[in-house]
Amino acid sequence: MLPKVHVNKEAFFVMAWAAVETFKKECLGLLLGYGPTELYNYYLITGATPFQSVRRRSNTEVIQSERGFDRLNRFFSKLKSMKTQYLGDFHSHPEWGERKPFVDMSDIDIKSMSDEGHNLEIIIGISSRRKGQIVWEVLPDGSVKGSIDRYNFHFNAYTLVGPKKKGAPQRLQIVAPSALEALNRIYGHI
Ligand SMILES: [Zn+2]
Repeated sequence: MLPKVHVNKEAFFVMAWAAVETFKKECLGLLLGYGPTELYNYYLITGATPFQSVRRRSNTEVIQSERGFDRLNRFFSKLKSMKTQYLGDFHSHPEWGERKPFVDMSDIDIKSMSDEGHNLEIIIGISSRRKGQIVWEVLPDGSVKGSIDRYNFHFNAYTLVGPKKKGAPQRLQIVAPSALEALNRIYGHI
């Protein structure tokens, strides 16, 4: 069975904020936490940090600067003895004009994920919202939807399955009850 993706409240809020801050451009950041083990078949994301050294191309795909990436890898290779791991990345897919954001993995997303050897990627679809708020909820496919002020969000977690982790992206179930509960409380949904 594919692992679930537990996201703590702080990490969830940081990702949402990063997507808002760069809107209508993409954000990109890293996910920290714990990977699945023999005992626990889930990821636990305890931290999310947006990258500062990012080269952006309008709203297509973010490309991290080579130098920034080298520095990051050196830093995390030193931290390997720690239990906390660099699990993968998150990035946003902002709306393009009136079109709803596309939340599937793009070809570039699949390539960069397999090149970097990570097993986890979170894509946040973000679009602007004119009025009202929608409830935060987990959808049947495991993704998470909701709104904060003038933005709609759609969080999707992916892994690559198949030979050498280069296969097809598969959506993973997101589990983030404390974040969703807090947001629904703030907006008076509960
Ligand atoms: Zn993408």
